[in-house]
Amino acid sequence: MIAANNPSLKSWIEVSGDSDFPIQNIPFGIIKTGRRQPRMATIIGNTVIDLSVLAELGYFNSVNMDTSVFYMPVINEFMALGKETTRAVRNRISAIFQHNNGELRDNDEHKTQILCDVDDVQLLMPVAVGDYTDFYSSREHATNVGTMFRDPDNALLPNWLHLPVGYHGRASSIVVSGTPIHRPKGQQMPAGAEMPVYGACKLLDFELEMGFVVGKSSQLGQSVSTDEAEDYIFGLCLFNDWSARDIQKWEYVPLGPFLGKSFASSISPWIVTLDALDHFRISGPEQKEPEVLPYLKYEGDKRYNIALEVLLQPEGGEAKTISRSNFKYMYWNMCQQLAHHTVNGCNFNVGDMCASGTISGTTPDSYGSMLELSWRGTKPLPMADGTERKFLKDGDTLILRGFGEKDGLRIGFGEVSGKVLPAT
Ligand code: CA
Repeated sequence: MIAANNPSLKSWIEVSGDSDFPIQNIPFGIIKTGRRQPRMATIIGNTVIDLSVLAELGYFNSVNMDTSVFYMPVINEFMALGKETTRAVRNRISAIFQHNNGELRDNDEHKTQILCDVDDVQLLMPVAVGDYTDFYSSREHATNVGTMFRDPDNALLPNWLHLPVGYHGRASSIVVSGTPIHRPKGQQMPAGAEMPVYGACKLLDFELEMGFVVGKSSQLGQSVSTDEAEDYIFGLCLFNDWSARDIQKWEYVPLGPFLGKSFASSISPWIVTLDALDHFRISGPEQKEPEVLPYLKYEGDKRYNIALEVLLQPEGGEAKTISRSNFKYMYWNMCQQLAHHTVNGCNFNVGDMCASGTISGTTPDSYGSMLELSWRGTKPLPMADGTERKFLKDGDTLILRGFGEKDGLRIGFGEVSGKVLPAT
């Protein structure tokens, strides 16, 4: 077991029982405070730890590494050091903050420089995302969409159970939690019309997804096996793939999603390492009917039991939970996605991001989009303020949360939120 993952560890920093960030998490992100430049940080409880100052004061002298990565405005260079080094850093941070270690605990002058409350920092986009790919790997979601738009008896297209379907998305519009999103504009074909119209999207939706960040580059022309894939996955975040259903519906045949998807995706600010999620591994679904091709077979537990929640907060109103799902509702796991992505020789670069696709559970209260929750607008969702929602309205804030919990240990992601602003 990785030393920092030990469930019995306790920190001298106070951590409440329902915190997503106990000492066993140690995620990585980018902070900004006052006039200082953006730099790397981690978090325990509600206390943000400035890694650049920690390095400056010599706390990483025992780790064989280039500590200049902690002064970068993104975590790409840190991830590129490789898992041996990033694990050593996580273990070292864990050691510094253990309750019985006095080296920093008893140094008030250093603590003032290194620690601050999470409410006093700005959390920035943690990764410079090079390329972004979105998969479509939840069988429940693909079945719901296929049932609505095609045929309940043949909801899945013939390729779906043979390969992790995906498309190349747009990296430039991936934004960090808290960034407001303007309602997109574009072409739509109203039902019964003969000509398309141009205007603001009327069917704005979210998609509940998890994203993973690539921390190791692969070579052009080479494939990465399912066995090797975990070495390339640095960590995960919550991912909201905002979607304009009316624009999407008119444009997507025959080449797939384009402007209905590319206007924005939002991510949570802390990248939780794959290492930290080790306790929450579970086995995958049987993939024998049909049997998958050899390059997609894998060994071990590659799915993760991570509870996911979606909240919708109308302007000036109360946030209401509109869905509870779980990252376990994935037919294709991240290792299969990565192996499939590289099977043709396409290379990954450090900082690339892949998203899972909408994660829907088996019951109507566990669906991962408004499209499914309101069943194409036929079952509006009641809000606490007496209004209803079929899709998202201007002024709505959409919030995703997620955490794994097992044997009293909880490792979470915090949240990703985004407010819908009117079209420009
Ligand atoms: Ca998606």
